Amino acid sequence: MTRTVAIIGGGFSGTMAAVNLVRLSSGPLDVELINCDHPLGRGVAYGTPREEHLLNVAARNMSAVPDHPGHFLDWLRTRAEYRDMPEPQLRETYAPRRVYGDYLCGLLLNYARPIDEHQPATMHIHQDQAVDVVPQDDGRVEVALESGATLAADRVLLATGNQPPAPISANGGPFTHAGYCPDPWTDWRAKLPPPDEDVIVLGSGLTMVDTYLTLCELGWPGRLVVVSRNGMIPQAHFRGIEYPDFLPDDADQLGLARLVEILEDHCARLRRIGENPGIIVDRLRPLTQRIWRNFSPEDKRAFLSDHAARWNVIRHRIPQPIHQRITEAITDGRIQVIKGNVEGLSVDESRVRVALRTPRGDEQTITGGLVINCTGPNSGFSRTAVPLFRNLIERGLVRPDELDMGIDVGPDFAAIDAAGASSDLLFVIGPLMKGTLWETTAVPELRGQAMRVAQLLVDEVPTPDRDLRFSVEEEHVIEYYI
Ligand SMILES: Cc1cc2nc3c(=O)[nH]c(=O)nc-3n(C[C@H](O)[C@H](O)[C@H](O)COP(=O)(O)OP(=O)(O)OC[C@H]3O[C@@H](n4cnc5c(N)ncnc54)[C@H](O)[C@@H]3O)c2cc1C
Repeated sequence: MTRTVAIIGGGFSGTMAAVNLVRLSSGPLDVELINCDHPLGRGVAYGTPREEHLLNVAARNMSAVPDHPGHFLDWLRTRAEYRDMPEPQLRETYAPRRVYGDYLCGLLLNYARPIDEHQPATMHIHQDQAVDVVPQDDGRVEVALESGATLAADRVLLATGNQPPAPISANGGPFTHAGYCPDPWTDWRAKLPPPDEDVIVLGSGLTMVDTYLTLCELGWPGRLVVVSRNGMIPQAHFRGIEYPDFLPDDADQLGLARLVEILEDHCARLRRIGENPGIIVDRLRPLTQRIWRNFSPEDKRAFLSDHAARWNVIRHRIPQPIHQRITEAITDGRIQVIKGNVEGLSVDESRVRVALRTPRGDEQTITGGLVINCTGPNSGFSRTAVPLFRNLIERGLVRPDELDMGIDVGPDFAAIDAAGASSDLLFVIGPLMKGTLWETTAVPELRGQAMRVAQLLVDEVPTPDRDLRFSVEEEHVIEYYI
């Protein structure tokens, strides 16, 4: 009987897992790719139709397949607008994310609808929401879809990406208002207020940057008020220096306090010679997952509360020209950044009132004609409202990781069930592994996961002594990021 792998989620992770399964399979295999809400192949990040939303990783490091590191560059060359670009410039280009989405859709098409049918594996696409996975007596599972249809499968891969932002509650339910946008990736253009009213963005990360760029492209002349706990905005990519290895061989055994000491010391050295301390975060990157896995639960919690915000600002950088536009807008007053914790939202006629608590403990209220929630994914997995996850938790098929950021996952991508056993039915890749790996966000990590999980599901060879989630094979591919 032909084996079937069902993949839930058709963003980068699910799409590339499906592509790799078809690529690598030497025998009959059915791949059922299930996707809803965001565009197939593109997902949240590359589903934006807007030209001004750029990649935040240079083209040289955006290949979707780890075994062909130059694949995205080669593909860019096939497009008229990049054909004659000098190689050094092409490598450092931050292409529009929608162009990267075109790249992923092209790859998907090649394997889902091959021109010549000589692949032993086949792929079927379902535009539907998976709401449950029900184990059957014969050892297989049934994936239940929102439409009422079901799919039989031998293995299920969860590639559902980040959870939507946590809802902001008011009067016992999620806050709703015509001037409030709870999901920044929906089209909020029709909600734009008159220019004498502010647009308020909750959160000061990469999504805030996208929002500002879109407001500019739309010609909106008003002011953007940005509310964030720490008031930090993403830093810019920069060209660094070669910096010698500075970590001891047992860096992953040091624990948080000692590691922070070493990192602070080297950041200070770099500052003294006028260099960007971001070099330290970049040099740490091939080790980040290993360090995280060896932290104690207390160290992980302490990192999240004391260091994660600063880490994210340095780690997830933006192209220099965009950073300049943001800093100029702050200087000109077109963007106002307010430090504060959002305590609640309420209605002020056609506008929305945001209640804040400042770092000094004072109450502050601001009002805007449009409030957009860009606070990032909901990380309380056990409180999820997503039907699929609620059902998986209730069936005991998955359990939250120890930080409640996502699903607990073993070294071979297998979900850990409620009893602590490794599943042989359910596998997980992508941002759902955040609590397990910390660094599982961007293409350079996800392409390796999409490849290794496909190898595992095709071969079905147990790998008890290797941690497949960890990107050992990729260390030589990841370039120095600066
Ligand atoms: C705005 C933005 C910009 C980014 N830019 C970059 C960049 O420049 N470079 C980089 O390396 N990384 C970037 N990233 C990181 C990005 O997260 C990854 O590159 C990657 O896109 C994540 O893909 P994913 O498939 O894991 O998740 P997603 O893109 O979220 O895709 C998951 C898909 O699964 C679907 N889904 C979820 N649940 C179900 C269900 N129950 N049934 C059916 N379908 C379901 C979702 O609707 C979605 O289509 C960016 C992220 C964001 C948000």
